[in-house]
Amino acid sequence: MKTLKIAIQKSGRLNEKSVELLKNCGLSFENYKSSLISPVSNFPLEILFLRDDDIPEYVQDGIADLGIVGENVIHETEVEISYLQKLGFGKCSLKIAVPNNSHIETLSELGGKSIATTYPVILGKFLKKHDITAEIRTISGSVEISPGLGLSDAICDLVSTGGTLKSNGLIPFADVMSSEAVLIGRKGSENEEPVKELIQRVQSVLRARETKYVVLNIHSDNLPAITKLLPGIKSPSVIPLAEEGWVAVHTVIPESDFWERISLLKQAGAQGIVVMPIEKIIL
Ligand code: ATP
Ligand code: ZN
Repeated sequence: MKTLKIAIQKSGRLNEKSVELLKNCGLSFENYKSSLISPVSNFPLEILFLRDDDIPEYVQDGIADLGIVGENVIHETEVEISYLQKLGFGKCSLKIAVPNNSHIETLSELGGKSIATTYPVILGKFLKKHDITAEIRTISGSVEISPGLGLSDAICDLVSTGGTLKSNGLIPFADVMSSEAVLIGRKGSENEEPVKELIQRVQSVLRARETKYVVLNIHSDNLPAITKLLPGIKSPSVIPLAEEGWVAVHTVIPESDFWERISLLKQAGAQGIVVMPIEKIIL
């Protein structure tokens, strides 16, 4: 089988979660130290550790078959690649922010102003869509200090908690795009066998993260009511307990409405509820 290459960030915000995801897929490799390439010992794959900005082009050009990178970087580099799977980490938004004391209050008031950013392509498209003519100042980092230095009237930067904006006296003003880490592939790679296998592994890990394994005890009279509350993958497993008339119910519950469901289960007579994490769900 052909050896695939997957490019991930070598250090920074996406590195740890990318490595963790690949390890949870059962791949065995050494994390980045000084070498740029790390072979996987139990799958035909090599990990390339790169700066995130280079990943989309490496994948487009076929130097890597796959990559893990933020959607923001993909849009900024305007590459032709296949989106394979959103990964649920590295969530952030690209926002325009202005100083607290700014008089800019509506989008159209950005007209004629200067905006500092490391995302000139995305910002340019956004301004064009809203018919705004503003000066885009492309800088390579520390965007948030530019209004304070008198370099720009506003900024367009990535925000997750908003703490950095706040500590620089800036307030978010408009949402340009939201982003998360995604698995990307060279165009057409999704039809290749080892890529398909890897996508399946990634999806089984993600599915497991979204669900919990739940075991509860219930009097069999209450079983129909409980079963109605449980989604499960097919239907729950029901196992008799040593105590006459009681059963244990095993099932999986989505993380999204977990507490609501648990409270309904309790109301329906569930006792001794045990909740466990799931490692993988293979359908
Ligand atoms: P590199 O050295 O690889 O070029 P970088 O400095 O460009 O790293 P990081 O700051 O590590 O990049 O961010 C990597 C990605 O993490 C971003 O492109 C974005 O998708 C995501 N991200 C999530 N939250 C944030 C945030 N608050 N600020 C910046 N990026 C974030
Ligand atoms: Zn970068």
